[in-house]
Amino acid sequence: MTPDDLKQLVRTVPDFPAPGILFRDITTLIGHGAGFAASVEHLAERAAAARAESVAGMEARGFIFGAAVAARLGIGFVPVRKPGKLPVATLGIDYALEYGSDRLEIDPSAISSGERVVIVDDLIATGGTALAAAELLRQAGAQVDHALFVIDLPDLAGAQRLRDAGVTVDALMEFA
Ligand code: 5GP
Repeated sequence: MTPDDLKQLVRTVPDFPAPGILFRDITTLIGHGAGFAASVEHLAERAAAARAESVAGMEARGFIFGAAVAARLGIGFVPVRKPGKLPVATLGIDYALEYGSDRLEIDPSAISSGERVVIVDDLIATGGTALAAAELLRQAGAQVDHALFVIDLPDLAGAQRLRDAGVTVDALMEFA
């Protein structure tokens, strides 16, 4: 299936999680066996071209695609977690949201110095989450040059923020 076919499998839910927001829901995409497999295949091709040595995915939807891509390529998966979930000493980063802030944590021993880590998430909007993940992984010693998404919302300009931080961005589809 082509990325255009896959776009038809994404469900749009109005007014979630707040009034006026059009939520792009990947539940319908991953629930479609051929669609999920093709999404993983397209992302894995791009991760392989970026010479990924491991894949990092953000909790929770980044785990779905990121872990599948890592397994497809036979490389490791680094979970980038919400705070307080990992049972070891973590490296963390706080980052601003539209209202308030959030935090991501990793196990720094999961990264070798200079390891080429490719970020995978379901969607990039403002880029705040992916930028924080890239910075955190870099603090742990990773080389983070590529981030892959199923969906880009170009109107929110997150991809440009990542490019400004030296991260090449690729997405299977856009919703403008
Ligand atoms: P950003 O930090 O780029 O503004 O937001 C991206 C993060 O929020 C991603 O981790 C993504 O899972 C989640 N997110 C924001 N909006 C949507 C949406 O419309 N659909 C989905 N599936 N995830 C979203």
